[in-house]
Amino acid sequence: MTHAVRFEFTAPPLIVFGAGAVDRVGELAARFGRRAWLVTGAHALERSGVVGRAIECLAAAGVSVARQSVGGEPDTAVVDRGARGAREAGCDLVIGLGGGSALDAAKAVACLLGNGGEALDYLEVVGRGRPLAKPSAPFLAVPTTAGTGSEVTRNAVIADAARGVKASIRHESLLPRVALLDPSLTHSLPPDVTARTGLDAIVQLIEPYVSKHDHAMIDVLALEGLRRAAPALPRAYADGEDAEARADLMLAAMWSGMALAHCGLGAAHALAGPLGGAFPVPHGVACAATMSWVMAANLRAAARGAAGAGTLRRYADVARAMGAADHQGDEEAAVAGVEHLRELCELLNVPKLSVYGVTREAIPGLVARAKATSSMKANPAELSDADLAGVLEHAIG
Ligand SMILES: [Zn+2]
Repeated sequence: MTHAVRFEFTAPPLIVFGAGAVDRVGELAARFGRRAWLVTGAHALERSGVVGRAIECLAAAGVSVARQSVGGEPDTAVVDRGARGAREAGCDLVIGLGGGSALDAAKAVACLLGNGGEALDYLEVVGRGRPLAKPSAPFLAVPTTAGTGSEVTRNAVIADAARGVKASIRHESLLPRVALLDPSLTHSLPPDVTARTGLDAIVQLIEPYVSKHDHAMIDVLALEGLRRAAPALPRAYADGEDAEARADLMLAAMWSGMALAHCGLGAAHALAGPLGGAFPVPHGVACAATMSWVMAANLRAAARGAAGAGTLRRYADVARAMGAADHQGDEEAAVAGVEHLRELCELLNVPKLSVYGVTREAIPGLVARAKATSSMKANPAELSDADLAGVLEHAIG
């Protein structure tokens, strides 16, 4: 049986990639405006001099800067404060310089700067979900971690400050005008951050590739991303200055953003949302700690279901791309892939979820919330409550 290839693909109109590329931020920003609202992440950035360097480049290109620093994952209050500040400062463009949290905050500020109103007006599910009447203000994304892929997606994940629930503002015009990726900015990341952001990228390549949604272009990007990231991650973990490994991880993270935006995610991300909402588990740790158990559960379910052969073949592709299997048949290869990911998590010292206070008593509530997520709908197999509880039991340790 043949099936016709059909897809849509969206990405930022300009992606600039390369060591040292951050020095082009001024020239690129000057194409869009004269006064930038600069949203930066953690303080570690300032110590490494990246923010100062970016501001100098912007000034040299005639772009002045007003600033906001974002502590953790952004909530509606942070975004509203940013939008107010940007309006008062007369900004005509927004630059996000930092990890996924800073980029998402900046993306949402750009949306409000273009449209007026407050974050809750546009937030899906927990907010008013209003459509955007106007385009976002021009937004440039400069990631300093290799993990979320936010620099190439059209949604911003924001927590509702009052309820502590995360949701998205989502629209075509939230896509950055420029994604500026400089892997040298990630050299100073400590090993634990390298591990969890890198594993998030790997999970964000695996889940879309095996998801219910086929996409001919994402297939290429996901497998190439896994081929680069699987060997690069242990290298960057051991030696942060390994430039080749850092570049491979940044490419993989960017492709993981494209993959999740077009094919959705799966049960690991479905569980990671509620886990991060109820416990102080970093997103990448939640994904990494659950992924191998989700893979095993999906493979068991695939063996029972009619569509299982396709899922099995895709997991075998994943294993081969990660270098975990060579000449075996699909079934053996898929199992080797699960084992490989488990070993990778051990090598990178991914903590068990009990370290963050996750208890067995919390499992039923987490399962119920995970089942309601959009990520769960893309998971390749129907997992029962018992399957999901089993995943969490293993991940809690
Ligand atoms: Zn993720």
